[in-house]
Amino acid sequence: MALKLSKKTFKGGAHPSYKKELSATKPIAVCSLPDEVILLLSQHIGAPAVAVVKKGDKVVAGQVVAEAESKVSSRILASVSGEVSAVEKRLSPSGQKCPAIVIKTDKENNDIKKFDPIKEPKPEEIINRVREAGIVGLGGAAFPTDIKLQPSKEHKIETVIANGCECEPYLTSDHRQMLEEADALIDGLKLAMKVLNAAEGVVAIEENKADAIELLSQKLANENNISVLALKTKYPQGAADMIIKTVIGKEVPVGGRSTATGGFIQNVGTLINISKAVRDGMPMIERVVTVSGELVRSPQNFRVRIGTPISHLIKEAGGLKANSGKVIIGGPMTGLAQFSFNAPVIKATGGVLVIEDSVNGKKSQNLNPCIRCSRCVEACPMGLVPSALSIYSQVGIFEKAGEYDIDACIECSSCSYVCPANRPIVQMIKFAKQKIWDSEKDNG
Ligand code: SF4
Ligand code: SF4
Repeated sequence: MALKLSKKTFKGGAHPSYKKELSATKPIAVCSLPDEVILLLSQHIGAPAVAVVKKGDKVVAGQVVAEAESKVSSRILASVSGEVSAVEKRLSPSGQKCPAIVIKTDKENNDIKKFDPIKEPKPEEIINRVREAGIVGLGGAAFPTDIKLQPSKEHKIETVIANGCECEPYLTSDHRQMLEEADALIDGLKLAMKVLNAAEGVVAIEENKADAIELLSQKLANENNISVLALKTKYPQGAADMIIKTVIGKEVPVGGRSTATGGFIQNVGTLINISKAVRDGMPMIERVVTVSGELVRSPQNFRVRIGTPISHLIKEAGGLKANSGKVIIGGPMTGLAQFSFNAPVIKATGGVLVIEDSVNGKKSQNLNPCIRCSRCVEACPMGLVPSALSIYSQVGIFEKAGEYDIDACIECSSCSYVCPANRPIVQMIKFAKQKIWDSEKDNG
């Protein structure tokens, strides 16, 4: 189907300097195997997986080492062959210590144990394969994909959207995968459409990825129910609520699910993994990670085994140009600042950045007073009043923040980005949300 250009967009948002040129034109490189991998048992939304191996066990890459024992959870498969050297708490990207399985890598013998390929899969076989391969959403939320592929029956899915927006600055892993694995992406999209019995597929890509738009438009030229939609480049275009609004033209209800609109969104990398799991029997033991930032010597995308320490990835990218800088796992708008290089790559890690300071040269934020300029209100894509939310959080009147629809905040950081007073608005909003949840728990 022909390429479509979207004139529609959402209200608000921001235009950060994207800096994608640092890594966008270089092919994905395969990262060497690290000496050890650290497989966190909680690297998805839902209950942590439960370890089924112990110290001293020999494992092969692709073997299950932690099983999903709750409905919303995802199993973990060994990403390398070797010996389990510990089952203990290790540092996670969130800065907390979490239970993990540590495997000392056998660098001589590292063949991957795969599942049997399925040529003509039935919908339930696709869901089962996605579950047994341990696939979760790669767009950031890491929701178990087999659960997502079974939405409530009350919502008929009309359109499956392959999310190729990748609107965070610096990150280019989705872009490179669209260029290098376009056939697997299209196959994964068709498999998702089959499971959901959806009539239409849309590959949504921001206009700043013209080569990916052109390639996918060519490959889809003869498909009459799948199109490529080029969207305006604006942050946070890739957020679920924004993309639904732009592609489907409907609002996701506050506190509701995007499937209520008839749309189903899946990140392009996740769709590629679905195709590989079904067609090639590939377990989810690796992902593509952008290693970038002004302080990285040779920014590039790497295909990395899950659990690889970020220190190993940085070395693979040529090391650092300077010893001071800001280390972020994820993108600069929504990622997690790091105090060391010890955390491992988890299934949701799209990027490892080492940058000079906060995004676009903005210096560290502090609690300067609000000057009531209303720029954050104009930038908020959810139509909230971030200045009020941050002030209520700052003075500890959390219930008032609740009255101002704090739950609708998607934590995109557009407000913090545009604030001339450099207030840490999104951090204050997250703090208030946590306080509200804590008090709801205490009150039963
Ligand atoms: S209030 Fe929330 S949704 Fe609105 S701009 Fe700030 S972080 Fe984004
Ligand atoms: S952008 Fe910053 S200074 Fe302006 S109203 Fe919002 S919080 Fe206040």
